[in-house]
Amino acid sequence: MSNNTLEFSPSTPIPAHLVSQVQSKLAYVDESITAAHVAETGDQITLQLRAPLNKVAAASLNSKIQIVVEMMTKGSFQPKVEVLEDYRDTPVPYDRDPMDELVASGEVSEEETGVFTFGPLFSRLVDYFESRFLELAASFGAQPYRFPTLMSARMLDRVDYFRAFPHSLTFATHLRADLDVINKFAEQASYEDGGLNASSDSFSRVKAVLSPAVCYHLYFSLADRPLPAENMIVTGVGNCFRYESTNLTSLERLWNFTMREVIFIGSKDFVLEQRELAREFMRPIFEELGFAYHVESANDPFFIGEFRKQAAFQNAFQLKYEVRARLPFKDDTLAIGSYNYHQDFFGRNLNITLSDGSPIHTGCAAFGLERTVFAFLSQYGLDQNDWPEVVKEALS
Ligand code: ATP
Ligand code: ZN
Ligand code: MG
Repeated sequence: MSNNTLEFSPSTPIPAHLVSQVQSKLAYVDESITAAHVAETGDQITLQLRAPLNKVAAASLNSKIQIVVEMMTKGSFQPKVEVLEDYRDTPVPYDRDPMDELVASGEVSEEETGVFTFGPLFSRLVDYFESRFLELAASFGAQPYRFPTLMSARMLDRVDYFRAFPHSLTFATHLRADLDVINKFAEQASYEDGGLNASSDSFSRVKAVLSPAVCYHLYFSLADRPLPAENMIVTGVGNCFRYESTNLTSLERLWNFTMREVIFIGSKDFVLEQRELAREFMRPIFEELGFAYHVESANDPFFIGEFRKQAAFQNAFQLKYEVRARLPFKDDTLAIGSYNYHQDFFGRNLNITLSDGSPIHTGCAAFGLERTVFAFLSQYGLDQNDWPEVVKEALS
């Protein structure tokens, strides 16, 4: 074992259903960690470190890890995973990691960790899959909206986002409007040691973050008044940003990605019914596209402090279903979309009411465009001859 590897045994073993979620949170525990692995058995954690740690530092890291494990697992119970669609056995022709070929052919190039430029083949596939998601939107007569890439920090505070997902935020700031500050920055700023070298008091306070999701913008636009109609169905696409730390690997987790959403607003029954219709509408489409996938109940990636309570709540009330595509090259699955129900959370926090004065319920179907293409290429490869007929035809 190299000096840059550290192994811990958690004080209580991590239950199987939490292994991957604990592993993903370890990326946020300490900046010395470059990769974390939790054994499937849940009794061993292996960390890769930037540099060897002395005894004191290793002990302090150990205690941070134990805190994470304890907060996420203590008193948790195995959720009942509900599988609504199961096409995991759909045969697919490819079983390698498409990333090598994508990079070699210039289809994908990484500008910064988690920030990618995509070439013509990849981009045409994005457009094509998005056109299929737009069929879903059209089936509901969804109204088109355009949303900004920046999102109001003031509004996010109203929906408690800073408690639920602080770890993945990306902040937008600018230089303070002060001649001395701007001149000093212009003279001295340079990129050094993996970051921009500028004094932090040059920057403004944060009023906006880069959008972590799309549908929030719609709810914010409707805040503090009665819903102008009995219900609403809207569609929009947007740039989304989630800082996934050392989990920003390959195309599975991007810092900057694109989401197409169909958003439902109305009564509880209305939203639940539309969410179900959306899933039923997409099923034959995913089948036609040849995806090996399944749909199962899931929870959002809440941060450590909120995780246990919120995840259990989401599971108990079936608030989230994920479309999980197989990645044959690593014998794993990856979420390419989700069907979500937020109950009256946004209605209550943003004071948006139905005609009877009760808070609106909301839900959405959300699809990650880059992930959909990545999953497709993982199953079918870059050779168009191996692709399902509809995809081949659409791109010819
Ligand atoms: P995961 O659990 O895999 O992180 P999620 O539960 O955070 O996904 P949602 O919030 O449901 O994802 O977002 C909807 C879709 O957006 C996901 O199904 C996925 O396709 C896409 N998505 C989410 N995070 C990323 C990311 N970091 N990079 C690329 N696509 C993403
Ligand atoms: Zn949404
Ligand atoms: Mg998820």
